[in-house]
Amino acid sequence: MSELITKSACELAGLIESKEISSVEATEAFFDRSESLNHLTLSYLHLNRESALAAAQAADSDLAAGKRHSALHGVPIAVKDNLTTTDAPTTAGSKILEGWVPQYDSTVVKRIRAAGLPILGKTNMDEFAMGSSTEYSAYGPSRNPWDLDRIPGGSGGGSSSAVSGHLAPLAVGSDTGGSIRFPAAVTGSVGAKPTYGAVSRYGLIALASSLDQVGPVTNTVLDAALLQDVIAGYDPHDSTSLPDSLGSMAEAVKTAQFKGLKVGVVKQLSSDGFQAGVKKCFDDTIAKLTAEGVEVVEVDCPSFEYSVAAYYLILPAEASSNLARFDSVRFGLRVAPEGNPTIERVMAATREAGFGPEVKRRIILGTYALSSGYYDAYYGSAQKVRTLIQQDLEKAFSQVDVLLTPTAPTTAFKIGEKVNDPLAMYLNDIATIPANLAGIPGMSVPNGLAEEDGLPSGVQILAPAREDARMYQVASLIEALYVAQWGAPLIAQAPGLEANRG
Ligand code: GLN
Repeated sequence: MSELITKSACELAGLIESKEISSVEATEAFFDRSESLNHLTLSYLHLNRESALAAAQAADSDLAAGKRHSALHGVPIAVKDNLTTTDAPTTAGSKILEGWVPQYDSTVVKRIRAAGLPILGKTNMDEFAMGSSTEYSAYGPSRNPWDLDRIPGGSGGGSSSAVSGHLAPLAVGSDTGGSIRFPAAVTGSVGAKPTYGAVSRYGLIALASSLDQVGPVTNTVLDAALLQDVIAGYDPHDSTSLPDSLGSMAEAVKTAQFKGLKVGVVKQLSSDGFQAGVKKCFDDTIAKLTAEGVEVVEVDCPSFEYSVAAYYLILPAEASSNLARFDSVRFGLRVAPEGNPTIERVMAATREAGFGPEVKRRIILGTYALSSGYYDAYYGSAQKVRTLIQQDLEKAFSQVDVLLTPTAPTTAFKIGEKVNDPLAMYLNDIATIPANLAGIPGMSVPNGLAEEDGLPSGVQILAPAREDARMYQVASLIEALYVAQWGAPLIAQAPGLEANRG
């Protein structure tokens, strides 16, 4: 195994800057590994060696000419397959977009290219980002590098398995209800959902527009902070984009301190329904924070009880409207129906063949929830619950700086275990959904291995809207506690994928 592939993105950037290695060498190291191991993890749907190497060469020659475009200049990255790219297909994990090559780059991809990061490829995901395991990808499930029989989380399981399996040093994902944070938790990586509007959604294939947000998936907190600094910023193409900057996350991490910190533990997310080993890891971290002098109090968020129910009305409602654009005319697949090919019949045949069962389930649910007779009863009530959740959080943040919860109720489950039980699948996001409903930033950091199965668990940090810097600071403090105990970040303990090579 090349030594390069286990380095953090920050370390790689340093080696490239000092010209000890080139961007081409770093990019090739990750390609060699990805090409030999991607059949095990299915992290990537498309690998793009040619254009990544061209970008790496450009990064090297710019550096030679004294132009370093960002703190991550030259470090290769993987991109979730729902962000448009002009040099690779963008399928969002769906058959309906198979082979579709977009005419424009998403703003996030443009920023990544402008910052000098070569794009290795596009990562696997649940179809249109609906799911928690990648089992709803039309191209087959990704697998968890810790145990190939288990899920790497979803919907961004391609990105989390790529980063935790060292098939990429960095990745970007999207998070509508937990699709960055849940995969990070179950693969022992770091995943952050910034404040709604901090990162442009232009060119992100929309799932639920009022909830979607793009963010980093990495092996360390500093890497995530550096990547958020690259992708965040105002974009006139996105009307929900925040007009002003939230500052540098990487700078904020440098000044993190335990002193004066006040942390809240959400009553509704700290007792029932969590796997014993996950709960123990969480309690241990709280005890360590207390030992460092951090004040810990319990906060009450009674409306959190209804967050999953509200989310599964708001999300399908918005998704059913967003997915109406896949009409057999504008993008991708077109299927000829039997008999007379009227536009309605072509559309119906295309959508029948192109969408998978989970996508159809949510379109039907969303269309029903928005129908005139039921709009108030379902969508209207869900929006009221959303306001109550925001009020719970406002009250909580008037008492504490950040909230902590376990990121996920369990460690990685087995492939096949929940795929036929949508409700069980939906409940994985019980702790992550409130952040999307309220638009606040949330982040998952590795929090040790659960004692019953030896698999990674995560701790989630929630901060008030626009206080992403505070979230990163607390994340770096928790990471430091872990490193102090174990001598290295959790990811260093991941079993090598080579051992699993079949
Ligand atoms: N698991 C959630 C869902 O299926 C989260 C999706 C996401 O964040 N994209 O909706």
